[in-house]
Amino acid sequence: MSIAKVIVDVQAKTINQTFDYLIPERFQDILSEGMRVVVPFGPRKITGFVVGIKDSSDFDKVKPIIEVLDIQPVLTKELLKLGKWVAEDTLTLYINAYQAMLPQVLKSQYKKEIVRNTLEPLSPELEDLFAGRDVIGFEEFEQSIIPYSKLQKALQNSIISINYLVKSKITKKFVTILEPNKESYLLEEALMDLSPNAKKQRQVLSFFIRNPDPIEQTKLFTILNSNRTVVKALLEKKLLKEYKKEEYRNPYDENAFEKTLPLTLTAQQEEALNPIKEKINQSKHDVFLVHGVTGSGKTEIYLQAIQEVLEQGKEAIVLVPEIALTPQMVKRFKGRFGDKVAVMHSALSSGEKYDEWRKIQMKKVQVVVGARSAIFAPFENLGIIIIDEEHETTYKQEDQPRYHARDVAIKRGQYHNCPVVLGSATPTLESFARAKKGVYKLATLDKRTNEKEMPEVEIVDMREELHNGNRSMFSTRLKESMESAIARGEQIVLLLNRRGYSTFVMCRECGHVKQCPHCDIALTYHKRSNQLKCHYCSYEEHMPRQCPECSSDSIRYFGTGTQRVEESLNELMPHARVIRMDVDTTRKKGSHEKLLTSFAKREADILLGTQMIAKGLDFANVTLVGVLTADSMLHLPDFRSSEKTFQLLTQVSGRAGRHELPGHVIVQSYTPDHYSIQLASHYDYNQFFLREMQIRKTFRYPPYVYLSLVTVSHPNHVKVVQITQRIVQLLLKVVGEDTVVLGPTPSPIARMKDRYRYQCMIKYKNEPNLRKYLKKIIDQFAEEVRKEDLLITIDMQPYHLM
Ligand code: ADP
Ligand code: ZN
Ligand code: ZN
Repeated sequence: MSIAKVIVDVQAKTINQTFDYLIPERFQDILSEGMRVVVPFGPRKITGFVVGIKDSSDFDKVKPIIEVLDIQPVLTKELLKLGKWVAEDTLTLYINAYQAMLPQVLKSQYKKEIVRNTLEPLSPELEDLFAGRDVIGFEEFEQSIIPYSKLQKALQNSIISINYLVKSKITKKFVTILEPNKESYLLEEALMDLSPNAKKQRQVLSFFIRNPDPIEQTKLFTILNSNRTVVKALLEKKLLKEYKKEEYRNPYDENAFEKTLPLTLTAQQEEALNPIKEKINQSKHDVFLVHGVTGSGKTEIYLQAIQEVLEQGKEAIVLVPEIALTPQMVKRFKGRFGDKVAVMHSALSSGEKYDEWRKIQMKKVQVVVGARSAIFAPFENLGIIIIDEEHETTYKQEDQPRYHARDVAIKRGQYHNCPVVLGSATPTLESFARAKKGVYKLATLDKRTNEKEMPEVEIVDMREELHNGNRSMFSTRLKESMESAIARGEQIVLLLNRRGYSTFVMCRECGHVKQCPHCDIALTYHKRSNQLKCHYCSYEEHMPRQCPECSSDSIRYFGTGTQRVEESLNELMPHARVIRMDVDTTRKKGSHEKLLTSFAKREADILLGTQMIAKGLDFANVTLVGVLTADSMLHLPDFRSSEKTFQLLTQVSGRAGRHELPGHVIVQSYTPDHYSIQLASHYDYNQFFLREMQIRKTFRYPPYVYLSLVTVSHPNHVKVVQITQRIVQLLLKVVGEDTVVLGPTPSPIARMKDRYRYQCMIKYKNEPNLRKYLKKIIDQFAEEVRKEDLLITIDMQPYHLM
């Protein structure tokens, strides 16, 4: 066995195959499938994945592997196979699929170090190598004559470990710790001396008199709502002292999670869980769809199913949408399973992400809760895969590889003979249709665990408001309800359904709208920086004082961004305290949590935000939910817009009255009779499903047909149309009679970053060779792609039709 088959990191279709490399003597004992290596490729040195090992090569001249990057495989045998499937299924390169399965840190080469984990004597060679040190650079090992197999053995026995040195900025994090610099009685004296006006200082000092233990500065700030100026004053008076402490990259403090025990299930929960448990115990694959209203206890079902899996010594993957990865959600899993849980989401630094991934690889955890890419967690003994809020479009990756986590989950479930559980209050039409046909097993939970009714939904016709002379974005009904909720000391969630909306800039004189010079889209106004920004490329410019067309100075911004809503809220109800949550206020790491904690502590009356506030939040004191513009999505060029509207309205309504206080929802709409708004207000999913399926059938959309989308882009308009036209014609020659090929049509955003964009849509019921056809057709344009900056992308399951 001396030849490795390697998939190399080169972005080209012609290179999308394995290449043979000779395994040098020193790597022969240790090299195995799933490791990354450095190999010569032409004049370059590049990385690649070993996907197979064999005795001989059909080629005469086989170059040797230069370096082995991993002593332990980073991809399991299963993942190697899975990656191949993902690449073929989504029509992307193998290398893209493999890289998508790994944390960022492993996508580039980092310096490595070897860490000694034990004080026990090592083997003599290793003892020599460490020479009394605890940590050595990996290159020291490489320069030694110690065989790799020795190192690998020590690694497998956990005697040593290998660290990837991510930029030190990320690896090491320091926190400021504060503690009293004097005895309590001296602090008390100082407190008496402090001016009564120095309220903030007095507050901090009193805190330390009561709690003399060291505390993190940031924690103190959140507890007391204090700030650095105050602390600085006390430091200068030598009443406090500070020091820096290194913080480990454990993003979650284990002690912060109170242990929870399984609840006694309701009859409906029991009925949903039993068949899942049965499959777990029989080690059989099946797909379950748990359709349960918000608050029906789906999460408790997940927790108890996982418990069953853990008792069998197996592992679990739980996917939740990125924005639902709130501390509240994490707490429920950590609370039940403690340090058995790894958490993976994009707010973690790359170092933290890598650490979480390592815990999985090293079998230190048995459960992972994470966003989309956690579906590739390198577990080898999976007992269940759960996808919560299965209707969320974030489960589809919009970049190569364009995979859907649901498909990957089912593939892995089949491999591991374990159940896959999809949960939602508003399942996708695709999943619900499959469940109705019996392809998935359906469980229905139509009652909340606390037996509380779903909150009443009231629809307000905004056209009538306008008729009656109310031009504000708040109807009289909503305003009055907010006033009385605040008067009762209760809280409000306000949703601005912003997809399809933005604050654009228009001239009142001539109607000129400021557009991005590189994309066919209006620029968005950002008040804080007084800039106009394009959301598709990174173009920005200063807000002009005059209209560039007619030079009038009546250029203004329009639309209802969250900033605008906040402003008019402040005007309308100056006494109300508002927390605004949108992409602008949550950009900084941790700010999301901070705002939510603050709202939970009732430091504000109103939580105003976009989609991100609709998910998974659970506040006992929220009794009113307002939706400002229910229909803003309905008019987007997207056949799923009714479905998305229904999902969002249902989701956000579930935020109210989850506890003792009854809830109330007010939905403002300009199309109050639209079925998705009407049916959402009655929580009538079944009726919505039937209505919407009828429409999908008539217009031939999923789930009645499958869709594939080919998008062509190029700086030259004519060229794009011509090529798209040729693709359409080539497709028409090969596809079946029933299959519809549409195009060339301009993409909804017809120009982006100075490139024109056209698309071709394929609607089909049965086209088993479509991938092959598409591949072949695209290959015909390989020359142009390489030489002429032509871009052709294929999405076999498009969600964004943009
Ligand atoms: P969902 O995920 O369907 O929205 P949750 O799992 O969040 O529902 O459950 C809603 C609330 O009901 C939570 O506070 C949860 O702790 C509680 N709960 C769940 N199951 C039970 C049960 N069997 N008995 C009592 N309370 C329960
Ligand atoms: Zn742009
Ligand atoms: Zn003008």
